Amino acid sequence: MELVVLGLGSNMPLVRHNDKALQPEEILGRACEALSGVLKNFRCSSVYKTKPRYVENQDDFYNMVAAGEWEGTPRELLRAVQKIENWFGRDRESVGPKGPRTLDIDIELFGNQIIREEDAVNPLYVPHPLMNERQFVLIPLLEILPDFADPITRQPFSKILSTLSDQGVELWKHCKNLTTANRTQ
Ligand code: ADP
Ligand code: MG
Repeated sequence: MELVVLGLGSNMPLVRHNDKALQPEEILGRACEALSGVLKNFRCSSVYKTKPRYVENQDDFYNMVAAGEWEGTPRELLRAVQKIENWFGRDRESVGPKGPRTLDIDIELFGNQIIREEDAVNPLYVPHPLMNERQFVLIPLLEILPDFADPITRQPFSKILSTLSDQGVELWKHCKNLTTANRTQ
């Protein structure tokens, strides 16, 4: 069993035949419901509204972080989160990388493990290679895991965050049920 940290993002409504469109913030809420079914001791951060990075001509993102204990392997977790992304209409074919998405779930941390799995279709790198440059990951992560440190450099994430300049990440909605994880580091 490992404590895993996931980064969630959405900036595009999900329109399903005959149904009312699900807005990004609703998609995040539903995704958390789904994740609470696969992770033990599930907890999540507040939701933040974030200016798009990398591809800038798209709508603002809603971002949050979730954590919990996972019983399987890292690859099984990747499959599980991709299944939830697909369930919420994630379309990788027609949208380029870093473009608009109904739901993105990245594995930020898998305990303290350092994973480098090359694979033509689904490589897996954990810690997520971009997490330390992303305020939209570090700010919500520190809300639920304030004492966590980068497993590679051992630097506290709070210290890493303090070196970043402003990226336009605003608190959008406080988490109703904010709990602090058991300190494991
Ligand atoms: P983005 O980089 O915008 O999040 P995708 O969500 O489409 O793009 O992910 C692209 C690929 O990233 C996936 O096929 C997956 O194999 C790979 N990947 C590598 N490391 C990770 C990780 N830590 N979490 C999630 N996906 C990852
Ligand atoms: Mg992703």
